Amino acid sequence: MLKKIGFIAVMFVLVTVSSFAQEVQTPQTKAKNAVWLIGDGMGPGTMGMFMQGVRLTTLPQYPDKQSVLEKFIQTSVPGMYFSNTYDTIVTDSAGAATQMATGVLSRPDYIGVDHEGKPVQTLLEEAIKQGKSVGVVTDVYVADATPSGFLAHTQSRSEKYDIARQLVNSGAQVILGGGLKYFTQKENKKLLKEAKKQGWTVVQNAKELAKVKEGRVLGLFAEEGMPFYGDMERYPQVPTLKEMTQKAVELLSQNKNGFVLVVEAGKIDWALHDNEAGPSMWEMINLDETLGYLWTFARQSGDTLVYVNADHETGVPVFHYRHLDEETFKHKSGQGEMLYGGNTDYVNYPYYQKIFAHKHLLYYVYPEFKKLPQEQQTAEKLQSMADGAMGGHVDLHLDGEVPDYDDLIEHLNEALGLVWATGNHSSGMLLGVAYGPGAQEFSGVYHNTDLKGKFERVLGF
Ligand SMILES: [Zn+2]
Repeated sequence: MLKKIGFIAVMFVLVTVSSFAQEVQTPQTKAKNAVWLIGDGMGPGTMGMFMQGVRLTTLPQYPDKQSVLEKFIQTSVPGMYFSNTYDTIVTDSAGAATQMATGVLSRPDYIGVDHEGKPVQTLLEEAIKQGKSVGVVTDVYVADATPSGFLAHTQSRSEKYDIARQLVNSGAQVILGGGLKYFTQKENKKLLKEAKKQGWTVVQNAKELAKVKEGRVLGLFAEEGMPFYGDMERYPQVPTLKEMTQKAVELLSQNKNGFVLVVEAGKIDWALHDNEAGPSMWEMINLDETLGYLWTFARQSGDTLVYVNADHETGVPVFHYRHLDEETFKHKSGQGEMLYGGNTDYVNYPYYQKIFAHKHLLYYVYPEFKKLPQEQQTAEKLQSMADGAMGGHVDLHLDGEVPDYDDLIEHLNEALGLVWATGNHSSGMLLGVAYGPGAQEFSGVYHNTDLKGKFERVLGF
């Protein structure tokens, strides 16, 4: 009987395999368009916290409790990669963008040059040569490290006025983000005039951007970085990352030869540097919303590769369990907190609700507090201002003392059950996920200098 079942099972497998084999077609390996969405500082821990947080929290954006990122990863090709530079284990955004864009080892602080400082052609410059339209979109400033690593060449990311001129003189069709001051001040007072001469339509708010229907567009929507996503409702004149990305795709996709677009969600990194989990998660929602649009576009177009990754990891937030002393244990129990394992706090689900309720950075609240008359600068006042930013009461246990900003953040993370490895970048391995034609190229373990070649193979350069 067993033998018979075995025989039937084998026959079933053979029949299934052969009919499956007839149906399977060679996967499409070439794409006409490519969109590269970079979550600055978005390490796997941050991605995991975001996806798990969406699952375990009630958020109006996610009625089915699943992020776009999670759905995207489930239907795409994941790979892991290193980001070490020519001679350092840890990178900054400049070295990382340069290595991703040029395919060669470079150094922190370098933009579009190799480790000896020699300019190297970037993926976007190659795409222009191949007759494609290219663009960069960011919600920090356009002359910042990530966008400029794809279009400029200099040995220091601090040369923002020089980088701004290089961006204007690059062959890009779309440049959208913040950083107006680098195009209007110091030696660049006439740069926007020059840009208009070169055929750029220059826009400075969402309305003007919406009106652009063709041609080259240089959009500069803030003097420096654009508002944090959690604060966006206060700035209706400023386009969101998703809105800028939609306009970029609308304009670039008019080229019959295709396009390459780099989009940076830049403030994930900024919020992670501050070790403020809530605003970091809101920047992840910002990326998620943009990814939702791009993924829909890619599914409809059928010939667009979408690749999502990070330049490096920042902050590295994780929940951890804590052994509580008797007093804290009683205190927590008194609050009705769920406790397991006796005196151990394993951090219960509502902590995610607290984190997602926290939209506004304490980094901005603290200086406001310090501007108050001396007699008003009390621990109670600071707690109440913090509660305002955090969308509800989170007891920071200030115990009548006014801490400095760094100490305040330690109180915050203690209250949220979080620890952070650093306020800077880590060397942690990164996750890259590809969808669309050629996605298989991005599987496995690689280095960020392999990425340019992968894109070029998929785009047929
Ligand atoms: Zn970065």
